[in-house]
Amino acid sequence: MPVPVPCPGPENNAWRRAEQGRAERNTEHELTPTWGHPLHCTRCAARARTELAELPELLAAVSLEATHASPGPRAGTIGRTSTEPPWPGQASRLLTDHIVGGLLALEDDIRDLRSLNPRTGPWREGATVTASARFLDTHLAWALEHHPLAGEPHDRLSGNPAAQIHGWHRAALRFTGRDTRVEHHRVPCPRCELLTLFRSDGDDYIECRNIACGALLTPAECAQRIKAVALIYAENAAA
Ligand SMILES: [Zn+2]
Ligand SMILES: [Zn+2]
Repeated sequence: MPVPVPCPGPENNAWRRAEQGRAERNTEHELTPTWGHPLHCTRCAARARTELAELPELLAAVSLEATHASPGPRAGTIGRTSTEPPWPGQASRLLTDHIVGGLLALEDDIRDLRSLNPRTGPWREGATVTASARFLDTHLAWALEHHPLAGEPHDRLSGNPAAQIHGWHRAALRFTGRDTRVEHHRVPCPRCELLTLFRSDGDDYIECRNIACGALLTPAECAQRIKAVALIYAENAAA
């Protein structure tokens, strides 16, 4: 029997932090990780497959934003640094380039690692994206287990293929205003101190939407954070 490996997915971030605390400060914890099957757990693998399948259609929706006026992309979108893009459609173009570039880089990477023929065919964005998503779907099980970065814990800067797919999917959802933002946790993020903690529909963790941060918290960690902040506030008020 192979030794079970904790899934590198976001559901284990709290466990990883707790393990780090145990290693560095001897602080005990009672968390148990979600085990991989064999590396990513079945839930993370299924999510990556669904998100990958949805990307071509989402990208088409992102590019429509460039030509058809809309209420405007949401705050926090990649490539958007000021309130007004310098030319119409720029934010949409930047995000499309970011996602398409990422998809093709991952495809090329896998072709290289698996000694497959290089990508061919004329460049037509829609068709190229669809072909790339199909290629990645075929090689997804391999990528989630054998890609050199497949074991890297998921976060915004992770090169883990599943984390990358999730990041592109999330950015496109947000840009097209399709993510249902159910909860804004009005407590400063423990990492960047901004009021940017959100929990989206269907997520079992709370995410910092500051692009430079991207911290992920479990509901328990967030509750603890709220308590700690309330305590500091009460102490300051009493002083
Ligand atoms: Zn997982
Ligand atoms: Zn943060």
